Parts: sequence; C-alpha cells; structure tokens
Amino acid sequence: MTFLGAATSLAADGPLALAGPPGADDAAPDVEMAAHAPNVASYTLRAKLDPTRHTVHGEGTITWRNASSKAVSELWMHLYLNAFKNQSSVFMRAPIGGFRGGHIPSEWGSIDLKRLVLVDGETRHDLLPTIELRRPGDEDETDARVPLPREVAPGAEIALEVEWDDKLPNIVERTGYDGSFHMVGQWFPKIAKLEADGSFAHFPFHHLGEFYADYGTYDVTIDVPDDFIVGATGPVTETRREGGRLVERHVQGDIHDFAWTAWDGYRVKKETIHGVDVTVLAPAGYDDHVERELETMRFALPHYGARYGKYPYPVLTLVHPPVTASEAGGMEYPTLITTGQPSWLPRGLWFVEGVTIHEFGHQYFYGLLASNEDAWPFLDEGLNSYAENEAMAAWKGAGSGIHFAGLTIGDVEAQAERARHFGHDEKIAQGAGAFATGSAYGALVYSRTAALLETIARAYGKAKMDRALGVYARRFRFRHPTPNDLIDTIRAEIGPGAADNLRAGLFDKGWVDYTITQTSSHPSHGAAGMFDRDGKRETISPDKTARPNRYDGSVLVVRRGTLRFPVEIELVATDGSRSRVTWDGEAESFRVPYSGSAALRSAIVDPDDRILLDEHPQNNFATAPGQATAGAPRVLERGMFWAATLLGGLAP
Ligand SMILES: [Zn+2]
Repeated sequence: MTFLGAATSLAADGPLALAGPPGADDAAPDVEMAAHAPNVASYTLRAKLDPTRHTVHGEGTITWRNASSKAVSELWMHLYLNAFKNQSSVFMRAPIGGFRGGHIPSEWGSIDLKRLVLVDGETRHDLLPTIELRRPGDEDETDARVPLPREVAPGAEIALEVEWDDKLPNIVERTGYDGSFHMVGQWFPKIAKLEADGSFAHFPFHHLGEFYADYGTYDVTIDVPDDFIVGATGPVTETRREGGRLVERHVQGDIHDFAWTAWDGYRVKKETIHGVDVTVLAPAGYDDHVERELETMRFALPHYGARYGKYPYPVLTLVHPPVTASEAGGMEYPTLITTGQPSWLPRGLWFVEGVTIHEFGHQYFYGLLASNEDAWPFLDEGLNSYAENEAMAAWKGAGSGIHFAGLTIGDVEAQAERARHFGHDEKIAQGAGAFATGSAYGALVYSRTAALLETIARAYGKAKMDRALGVYARRFRFRHPTPNDLIDTIRAEIGPGAADNLRAGLFDKGWVDYTITQTSSHPSHGAAGMFDRDGKRETISPDKTARPNRYDGSVLVVRRGTLRFPVEIELVATDGSRSRVTWDGEAESFRVPYSGSAALRSAIVDPDDRILLDEHPQNNFATAPGQATAGAPRVLERGMFWAATLLGGLAP
C-alpha cells in the first residue's frame, strides 16, 4: 500500500545522476521465469452484496493441497474482517498513529463462518464445532485454528465447503463501505500459507501488517444490484442480469488473493495497453485523473515488464475511490489496485502518477513474488518503493515528485531524508508487528530500504542494480522469496561488498557517515640534513630545500559507522584544478596525499552524492586552513532538504 503523508524533499539541482537513459534497460537478463504458479489453494466462491445493509453472503468450495514435505493435521484460516469486530482485536488494540488512518469505525465489521465442511470422499466432516477462533486469553478472531479429523499427507488434496456472512465496516484503511461505495477486501475465509517444512505462516491481522498466501486459481461470481458497476480481480468470464441483479463471474489463475468493488457511482474507462486490458473506475468529474492514470500505465506496463519480467495477466483494474472513501485508496490486490489523490492536483504535482505507479509496482513485489509481508514487509514495500523511485525518475527526471512552481523535488531524495531520522532506532528487517510506531514502519520499511538500495546502485553502478533486481524478480516469480534470496542475488550480480552492506543495512541498523577531518597543504620542501651520497657527505640546510611552485599536503577522510561503500574524494586547488581519487571505504580512515602547483583549497568526499544514506552530508566538505570558505554549496542544499521535509509533511 501507499505510505500516505510520506515526506517529499527537494532534489539538489547539482550533479545528481537519477536515472539512466530510458530504453537502456530493455535487455532482459537471461533468467528462467516460471510461466505459472503452483496451484495450492484455489477458491470457487459466490458473493452476494446487500448494499443497504453492507453485507456480503458468501459460499463456495476451497481446494487445498498439502505442498509441504510433512503430513498436517490442522489448517490455519485467516478471518481478517474480524479485525474490525471490536477494540480487542490485534488490529484495533495496537497503538495507532503515524500510518494511514486506522480510526475506530463507526460501524464494526465482521466475518461469521456459517459452514465449514471437509469433503472426504463420501464422508463429510463438520469442522465448525472444533474450530478455535481465538487463543486463550485473547479475543482476536482473525487467525483461526481448524483441527482436521485426519492427517493430510504431503501432496494430498482436500476440499472444504464454506459459507459465511460478512458485515463490512465503514471504510477502515482498505476495506469497507462509504454510502453505496463498497471496497471488498480480506472478505473470505482464507487458508494461511503452509511452508515447505509443514508449518503454517499464520498471524493475526496487525495494524501495520500485510499478507502472505499460497497461489491458486480464483473463480468468483459476484452478485450485486444491476445498477452497480463491479471491479474485481481477474477477467470477466460471464455476465448476466436477472431479477434486478447483475451477476459477474471472474476467473484468474496464478494469484494469491481476490478483491472486488461495487458502486453505482463509477464511470468506466477502458484501454488496451501493452497487451493488457486496463479498466479505470472513478467517480464522475475525474476525467483528467483517469487520463493521468492511463498515461501512467502506458509508461509503467512496458517499463516494469522490461525490468522485472512481463506482467502475466490479461487485465488490470484501477479503482479511484470517491473522495469521502480515500482510505480505500493506495492499495494493491492481484490485478486490481486502488489509487487516489484529490481531483484538483495539477500536472507537475506528480502524486496521482506516484500512487498509481507504486500500486502497480506491487503487482510484482507483492503479487508475483509474494514474500511473507508479515515477517519481512521490506521485501514488498521497500523494494517497491525503490522501483517506484526508479520508474518515476526514468519517466519524469529530477522533478519526479514535484516539478511545479519553481520546485524540483525528487522521490529518492525525499526517501533518503526520511530514512535518516529512524536509522538508529530499529532495524529494517523485522516483522510488521515489531515496529514501535507507524512512522518508524513507514520510514524504515519504505524509505530506508529504498535509500539503501539506491545507495548500493549509485556506489556500485545502477546497471548492476537494475540487472540484479531483474534477475531476482524473474528467478523468484511465484516462489515467495526470503531476505536471503535477495541478498544472495545481490552478491552474485553486484558483489560481496554490496551484499554485506545490504545485509548490515537491513538486519544490523547499518549506517555510515563519511567526513573530512583534515585538509592542508604547504609549500613543498626537499629533505634537510646530512646525506652520504656518492662517497661524499653532504649537509643540506633547511633554508635550501624549497621547491618553487610546488605544494604538498593531504586530506584525511574518516568513515564512521558500519557500512563500507567505495567513495570518491575530490581535491580542489587554489588555481581551480580538481582531482579525484577513489577509496574502497574498507578501513576507518584514508589519507589522500596532495601534490600540486597550487595550494589546496578544499576537499569533498562523495562529490556526486552517491551515498544517499550518509548521515551528515554537510560534513563531507572541508576547506583548508587559511582558505576562504566560499564554495560550500552542499550546506545550502541541505537547507533546501530541510525546507522540503517541512513541505513534505504538508503534502497531500
Ligand atoms: Zn505499498
């Protein structure tokens, strides 16, 4: 989802290399990419909406295969709408703040299972009497244990008949209703992901947590009043109107969730883009927004396809919720994303484009990779934020966040600025429920991951990072990669230094601050003293050693912190000449010798701002003693960053 309220910051108009030339990345890495996901958990469901009572009656069949190596004798089932049932749910009792809305709904939501039957040949086992909705001493009902009457062997498949009633809350974060607008997510009983070792990755619905599930085929028939318009995961395979109702069937394989929306206020716009049937559903009066979202997809579908592998589904639906239901915006489901931002935003404030591209990016990092978002939220939101920054910079250039009224604001600099404030508090690589605040979650999971990846890209080469993420996204498509899969790919494609920095940055609160602590030069002298040369002793007095028009000196660069990036150091002489040396950054300090025909005036470490994670960029510049302090532009730039951070707090 989108981290709404993310700070935006001013890009330095200096020598920033934000993106390679568009089109330079069309060569896809030669990596095997699965054409289909394994069919593990498949759902054939029927859903009937009552838009007046805001209820959904659901029924159907779940087929589930034990894809692990061990027999299992229980299932875990997520009943996530119960997060909105009362204030004792894990979702509601988490300290709320700093991340999206998460307000207390004025109407509660719930999911009540009415039937859960294991079909075992001719025998039917009613599983409802033994289901454990709660843990002892805990009233949360989002994570249910379902004991089975017999073991399910590895590779064996079972079928469950289900029937349930949803009561939708008024919009909380992603789900619910507002008037006759309905956004129906996390709405059906869903089996938790079974890991290869036979354990279920199950968890209650946490305020900051997202999702994790096995792949399967979803065949869902949605039944709404016939003046409503439906948007849903997967293509429509059947439509009929009967008895004042619209019945729409959607079928899609290779996915791990299904969401839908129904509203009598939608305007519909369709366009085929890059072979994908794109539908935009938006309120009346949003024609310009709809066009901007389509413009975004005309860029994004080929761009992401070239980078991370072809988008494999025939459809994509963009849902722009009405302004009164904006909390439903900025969310991702397979083949369906919700966008947002107010209708008055002019072009140049690229927030409509930014949220659209962010949610579309989730089709890859959430949809096609499907990592455990509860345990490792950065694998989705962090990589997706990096990809969003990369895409927006490739598309819009340095003003990828804002290019309006004289302001040029880049997404990636904004992320780095936010990332600095939380880097020592908590690690990035931890479960969603472990973060102390929503602000820390947003700054670390989204921004610091993106800034870390961007620093690696700038330090070791963007082309290498492009290739590494391209390999990762293709190799692990449909395979639920873990942090080690990402780090191993970075190691293989970029090198051990990059992989070590990535691991330290993710798991160990890795940080870095390059600084220049000494800069000096003096007129050059030869050595004085007694010398035995050619069989003769010669004494040279100190006043005879001067070398005219030569200066010697040095610059001392110190690396504080635990990350070790290679870095450049630029030396500037009083005659304006400049020279650069590269330091591998491995040791804790590095003395750069200076020798030239003019005195040393100043030195700067990381002159091209590659090390976005550098904690104190203002100490990267130093003037030699006795030299005028003119020419320290970065101090000014940093002032701009602070101004931008302030502005970011006010941005919609
Ligand atoms: Zn997101």
